[in-house]
Amino acid sequence: MIEFIDVTKTYGEDSAVCDFSLIAPSGKITVLMGLSGSGKTTLLRAVNKLVQPTAGSVLIDGNDIADLDSVVLRRSIGYVMQEVGLLPHKSVLDNVTLIANIAGQTKDEALNNALELLELVGIDDSFHNRFPGQLSGGQQQRVGVARALAIKPNILLMDEPFGSVDPIVREELQDELIRIQRQLSLTIILVTHDRYEAIKLADQLVVLSKGAKIEQAGAPKDLIEKPANKFVQKLLGL
Ligand code: ADP
Ligand code: MG
Repeated sequence: MIEFIDVTKTYGEDSAVCDFSLIAPSGKITVLMGLSGSGKTTLLRAVNKLVQPTAGSVLIDGNDIADLDSVVLRRSIGYVMQEVGLLPHKSVLDNVTLIANIAGQTKDEALNNALELLELVGIDDSFHNRFPGQLSGGQQQRVGVARALAIKPNILLMDEPFGSVDPIVREELQDELIRIQRQLSLTIILVTHDRYEAIKLADQLVVLSKGAKIEQAGAPKDLIEKPANKFVQKLLGL
């Protein structure tokens, strides 16, 4: 599990994240939902040490990540960003195998792993040798997910992963994410500002206001039935 303990991140005078504490249970999807600027990305990046908290700590399975080497840590955590960030001059297959190679898998292992993952995310063989620019937005996101999984992580961090794909493809990708998460029992923290996506995907839904203040956290059903306040009501469209 991932445990945030009193995490604070300040930039100059402003707190992007103020005193944030939460447990993201193993094998579950935790969704962070909030308006733009509420500190969601900062929280995600605190988990793979792309952001260094000003105060507080993040524990993974009880180990303070401050004591872990960043490179080693990032090899165990998949990260999917909104801008997929595939290498434009590498084929789809190479984009996925490269990461596995970096993570220390042998060539054969990396290739077999990549082939399996591309199948898992629904990318047909005929696309393997194309370049990212020749794929639709939804297909690129699928490759992005395969690439994040290429290091065989237990944890997947996803920052508005389906933000730039159209609604129908978005629903397909959400369904597939749930299937993949169950199949690999991944611990996922996913950021979104889309309430439908949040309600659909979350085992634990965390509604944040500015400074990553937790307005409410719990099962989506409980938030819908008993929103803690007007803010939660409004954000969930109730
Ligand atoms: P979200 O992902 O919810 O939109 P962010 O975590 O990106 O929010 O940002 C939270 C706040 O912290 C914003 O006000 C943002 O401007 C500020 N912030 C984020 N990163 C930096 C940075 N590197 N330098 C200065 N301010 C930052
Ligand atoms: Mg963000």
